[in-house]
Amino acid sequence: MTKIAFIGLGNMGGPMAANLVKAGETVIAFDLVEASRNQARSDGAELATSAAAAVKGVDVVVTMLPAGKHVLAVWNEVVLAMAKGTLIIDCSTIDVDSAKQAHALAAQHGMASVDAPVSGGTGGARAATLTFMCGGDEKAFAAAKPVLEKMGKRIVHCGGAGAGQAAKICNNMILGISMIAVSEAFALAEKLGLSHQALFDVASTSSGQCWSLTSYCPVPGLVATSPANNDYKPGFASALMVKDLTLAQDAAKAAGAATPLGQHAQEIYRAFDADGHGGVDFSGIIHHVRALAGKS
Ligand code: NAD
Repeated sequence: MTKIAFIGLGNMGGPMAANLVKAGETVIAFDLVEASRNQARSDGAELATSAAAAVKGVDVVVTMLPAGKHVLAVWNEVVLAMAKGTLIIDCSTIDVDSAKQAHALAAQHGMASVDAPVSGGTGGARAATLTFMCGGDEKAFAAAKPVLEKMGKRIVHCGGAGAGQAAKICNNMILGISMIAVSEAFALAEKLGLSHQALFDVASTSSGQCWSLTSYCPVPGLVATSPANNDYKPGFASALMVKDLTLAQDAAKAAGAATPLGQHAQEIYRAFDADGHGGVDFSGIIHHVRALAGKS
């Protein structure tokens, strides 16, 4: 049995920690929010009074936090309380630069570290079917894999420090762009008098096929798993898509990569968010696309 400290028990971290308990691990949990701590306790975790207290004597530390600044703040605190050689895994989605700084901090204090952002959303977190995209050296990845397998079903080693975050933002840039492309195609089909079903039947088996169409279709009634069937309740909220597209743009600027469609997708999702739809599933962007007609 492994003793695991889990810090950050929100929409994702809460169910992930619960799955570690279900898999038979001892979990010492901490979050700043009392309601999240109480939920973790009823899920079978032991509670700690601070992040530093949670990591004392554990084999592995997992963090699942909002952004790079939170991860660096927590890692700066916990590395002082962890035993040398402890493995620390960050599953948050953060900027590549902060991820690299976190790895450097861990190395400086003699810890093994992995950045392991996830895809699969809150449904995947609950069902333990997440995909983990991992960055770090071979030894740290090998140690992290059995822990991550208890919370997910695909664990991919993407490369060295920060490579998991790089894979995550590249993937989500494809997702943001492709969801807008699929939404534009349906909006055009509607104007042309082509039925949703006809477009779906053709594009889902032709060269327009993509995940945004066949697994997450932005119009209701075509794909059982689509949030469109559930009034666009997330799923994956548009505000989180803005976050990931912004991370991609920041990384593109810093690395000197040209990503014009990624930039445009960021602008479109930002406008949707600014109109008060940040809590709507990101496939709800089809409403924004339809509303653009006549504005240009
Ligand atoms: P959330 O806001 O629900 O949870 C974050 C938790 O971190 C909160 O409970 C907060 O209280 C806690 N926290 C913040 N600072 C802390 C500190 N110093 N010490 C202890 N706890 C602290 O967010 P979430 O939806 O669980 O997402 C977590 C991460 O996963 C984010 O980086 C997000 O981008 C990423 N992510 C989310 C989804 C999703 O669908 N929600 C999908 C993939 C990736």
